[in-house]
Amino acid sequence: MNRFFSDTRSNDFCNQLLLFLTALLLYLPSIGQAQSIALSFDDGLDPINQPTASLWNSSILEALSNAQLKAILFPAGKRVDSPAGLSLVREWGKAGHAVANHTYSHFNFCSEKTTLVQFISDTKRNEELLKDMPGWEKRLRFPYLKEGETLKKRDGFRSWLTAHGYKSGAVSIDASDWYYNKRYLAWRANHPNDDPSPFRIAYLNHLWDRATYYDALSERIYNRSVKHVLLLHTKAINAAFLPDIIAMFRSKGWVFISPEEAYEDPIYAIMPTGLPAGESILWALAKQNGLKNLRYPAESDVYEKPLLDKLGL
Ligand SMILES: [Zn+2]
Repeated sequence: MNRFFSDTRSNDFCNQLLLFLTALLLYLPSIGQAQSIALSFDDGLDPINQPTASLWNSSILEALSNAQLKAILFPAGKRVDSPAGLSLVREWGKAGHAVANHTYSHFNFCSEKTTLVQFISDTKRNEELLKDMPGWEKRLRFPYLKEGETLKKRDGFRSWLTAHGYKSGAVSIDASDWYYNKRYLAWRANHPNDDPSPFRIAYLNHLWDRATYYDALSERIYNRSVKHVLLLHTKAINAAFLPDIIAMFRSKGWVFISPEEAYEDPIYAIMPTGLPAGESILWALAKQNGLKNLRYPAESDVYEKPLLDKLGL
């Protein structure tokens, strides 16, 4: 009986010490340290429906290789489930990048149409498709960053992830590259021979604006700059401008790190309590901490459309 008590007490002490040390790490200011950032790319490319898929894939991989960076790819199975599609994914793994899970069908987990059972089976389906890829890692990036609109779905899926050895695939910096990509393709179609500099500048300004916004949130919540993970997609705009994106962050003094190193930041082990769950981990934690006037990240029509319209892009 005594032994039981003393074991329990020492376990309690250890648990409390662990909690204390984790909290300390979270709030430890990184004085004089540069901001650090890792690159992540969602969705993957579909060579069946996109004839330039292979070209875009090569451009992105070449830019990463020239800059000596390691990134992480989160393919959605439905886009890459063909011999040609899977071979594009394999190129990432062979080049030393991580490949992880973005579910097969890219369902919105905050939609009432998507059930927990369905979402779990869709995640398993993508794992089956990709688990033998070089670079495969058990990390989950939620489609649209939507992590469930009810407690039952949110926590049910979190329990499944933990039980199956999945680690966080969260982002700290959410951006609207998908929207800029849409506009870029439309602009390109109308200006096939024009210098793309005005578009490049607008896009870089957008990414810089988003990065500094989320970094400021990190400072407000934790009094330090967390190790950032930026959300990008395997799209034409990044095939065109990735070298410029990398050069811009470096010119501002930010340091590139691998996704593996970024995910060591204790922030990614936190499970935010809000509902609906999801978005950037920093956004979710800012909301949980009661920060006011948070810009809702997905409203590109409100924020980005007027900017690009004004520039005639
Ligand atoms: Zn996606």
